[in-house]
Formats: sequence, C-alpha cells, structure tokens
Amino acid sequence: MRKINLRKLGVLLMLIALSTAYSKDKRPNIVIILCDDLGYNDVGFNGSKDIKTPNLDKLADNGMIMTAGYVAHPFCGPSRTSIMTGKYAHTMGAQFNIPSESEGTGYGIPLNNKFISKELQEAGYYTGAFGKWHLGADTPFHPNKRGFDEFYGFLGGGHDYIPEQYKPKYEFLKQRGSKNIRDYIKPLEHNGTEVDEKEYITDGLSREAVNFVYKASEKKQPFFMYLAYNAPHVPLQAKKEDMAVFKSIKDEKRRTYAAMVYAVDRGVGKLVEALKANQQLENTLLVFFSDNGGKLGKGANNFPLTEGKGSAYEGGHRVPMFFHWPNRIKAGQKFHNPVSALDLYPTFASLAKTKPSNAKNLAGTNILPHLQKGTNPHKDEMLYIVRHRTGLSDVGARLNEWKVVRTANKPWKLFYIKDDISESKDRSSEFPNKLKAMVKQAEAWSKTNAEPLWFHAKEEGQLWKEYHMPRFNETFSLN
Ligand code: CA
Repeated sequence: MRKINLRKLGVLLMLIALSTAYSKDKRPNIVIILCDDLGYNDVGFNGSKDIKTPNLDKLADNGMIMTAGYVAHPFCGPSRTSIMTGKYAHTMGAQFNIPSESEGTGYGIPLNNKFISKELQEAGYYTGAFGKWHLGADTPFHPNKRGFDEFYGFLGGGHDYIPEQYKPKYEFLKQRGSKNIRDYIKPLEHNGTEVDEKEYITDGLSREAVNFVYKASEKKQPFFMYLAYNAPHVPLQAKKEDMAVFKSIKDEKRRTYAAMVYAVDRGVGKLVEALKANQQLENTLLVFFSDNGGKLGKGANNFPLTEGKGSAYEGGHRVPMFFHWPNRIKAGQKFHNPVSALDLYPTFASLAKTKPSNAKNLAGTNILPHLQKGTNPHKDEMLYIVRHRTGLSDVGARLNEWKVVRTANKPWKLFYIKDDISESKDRSSEFPNKLKAMVKQAEAWSKTNAEPLWFHAKEEGQLWKEYHMPRFNETFSLN
C-alpha cells in the first residue's frame, strides 16, 4: 500500500510540475513608459536640481541609465513611428507630423510597416496602449488595428489636461455644430468608444495602466504595455497640489512643467506598486524615455545639451532613458554607448522569441547582449537625425565617437561627441577627411529616403514644392 501511494504521489507531483511549467509563459513582460518633450535634465536621475522624480529615480537606480539614449527624430510623430516600426520614419514618407484634426484624411503610418505591438500580439502577448497615439486617426491606423488589444487615450498629437476646463469648451462647440473642433479638447476613447474622463489626464492614464496590469496578470500570457503620457508637452497645465510642491520655482512655466512631470512620476509609482502586487516586477523589462528633447521656452531644461526639441543638435534627440529589469539587468549601472529607440523593436522581438518577417529591414539591433557585455551596439554604424523645415534640412549623424551636424545651412561641424556631449568644440578644421567621409555617408543614406506622404501644415507642403525639397545636394555640400 505504502509503495503504491508513493508512486501515486510521484505521478501527482510530476503532473503538477508539468502543468505549472506549461501554464506559465516565462517570457518577460515589456513596458514602455514614454514622455512627450521631456528634457534631458528634467528628471532626478539625470541631475535635475529642481524637479522631483523619486519613483523614476528609484527605478533608474535599480536599473541601467542610458546616458546616450537617442530617438530617431527630434519631434513627436516621426519619433513614435520609428519606435513602433523599428525603421526611420523618413524611409516610409512619415518624416512630418500627421496634421492636427486629421480624421478623414486617410493619413497614417503605411500599413505595410508592421508595428512591434502587432509582432508581440502575434507572438502571444497581451497588449495595451495608453495615452497619445499620433500615428493615424482613421480606422485602418487605429491602435486596435495595429496590434493593441486595449487602447485608452486619444489619437491626435496632444491633449488638454484638465477635464473641468476643456469639457465645457468641447460641449459648447459641439452644440453649435462646429465642424473643426480641436483634437486637444475632444473626449478620450477606450477601444474606439468615447469615454468621460474625469481625472487630470496624466492621472487618468496612470489609472488605466494600473488596471491593465491587474487584468493582464490574470492571463497566462505575458503582456506588452505602451504607456505614452502626453506630459509634459504643451499646453502647460498642472494640478494645484502638484504646483504647490514646486512653489520655490519662481518661473511659472517651469513650475507648471515641473508639476506635470511630478504627476507622471506619481503614476509611475502606482504602476510599480501594481507590478509588485501582482508579482510581475522582477520579470518585466521597463524602458523609460522621452519621444524627443525638451522644448525650449516651454519649461524644459536640456542641460548640458545644445538646443532642444526639433534640433539636430543633441538637445533635440538625446533623451533621458533607462532600462529596468531585475531578472536580467543588474542595478546601479550606467551605459555610455549609444542606444537608439530603433533598437527596441528587435530587442523586444528577441525577448518574445519571435523572428520578425521584416527583420532585415529593421534599422536597429538587439541591444541586450551589448548591455550585458558593455559593448557598443552601434559600432561602425551611423545614427541619423534628419529634420526638414521651411525649405531646408537640418542633419546630424553620429558614427562611433564622432558626430557631424549642419543646421540652418550654416557650415558643417564635427564634434568628438563621446566626451563633448554639449557639442561645444568644432573639430572640423582638425579632421577635414573625417568630416567629409561622415557627411558623404549621411548623404548616401538620406538619398534613400521617401518623399513625404503628408505635412503637418499646408504651408510646409507649399515650401517643400517651392524650394524643390529635399535639395540634398545642397545640404550635403561641404563648400
Ligand atoms: Ca514630442
């Protein structure tokens, strides 16, 4: 009898072990927390003296801070396009922002560019997007069509923050039958259905992200979350109690901006609590960054970088960034080699154990092995920043320790970017051949770009024609 019972017990234990092994998908959860127009120096972990971000700082300290984290465009839409597609927006004609109030225009990131969300969804991830979209407002381009099981947020390029202020404006215009109501004051939506959001928008998005974690944790599959706060993008609107925290900041714009970042930090704290409460934190890769640099004159601080949002200098596209993943990334590290938002697609696909069908067209690289070994993920690979504006192109290109920059048709400059992140000392006259070779390489790549499919404003489109843009021969001329 005793022997049989033992055998039965053994079989039972084995069955339990097997069912646990098969019921639990061990692939990590993946969370992107994206801020909008957050400056390089506007978080504690990058040295901010006046803005408090205790929750972000704690995550950064327990993870790896990227001191050279880049996005692939210095403003919103094209930067987000590159995150989602793993390709430069320029290669698909998406190098301008989709215009405001674009519903009905048919504008959206071309559907033959599979989003990472779709890739992960097809690989068995449960997926959710929260906040700003800005990648197409018409049905075929809706987040639910591009790989997100859940979407809560707004489809345009930004939004007002305080419902009791923007809702009456919206209701008034709606009752008057106004056809051109600004995206910024329209109701938020959940999976295509209007919702009546009552909280300060940042808090509302954090609440939905927390709910998603609880819902997702009940599933056997891992999850992917894209939490795209519109903060601290304009309009500068903060909660009174958050403003009070920063009463020592004299400048009102900076004080409001600081309070907006503080609200994001509070949300991140709640998200972390939810991940902990569901035993998910250890096996979640969390990537925090901004879609572009801080906007000068609107409360941001990009110190020690030159310029800000929109610029081909570092202030436009080097952003605050960290990776947090207790299971795989050791705490307390800084990574000084360049990391690009373009790297997220192949990195996430690798974690999901899926091989993207478009793998050879992706611009980035799986960076995890490099983070672990401390090697340069972009050794001998050029990283580009190309921004067209009013009939000319600003260009920056980094190769290993060097960067070339040309803005406003002024002469090309060369910086030893590894040590001179402020781009303060032009070395072009010392190394003319290096300058020439890098400019030629950037030219060759730029000439593979596609014609823009849309412009953020009619005037920009007119200038494009009038000036026979992109006029790359002129841009890349060294004379
Ligand atoms: Ca932005």
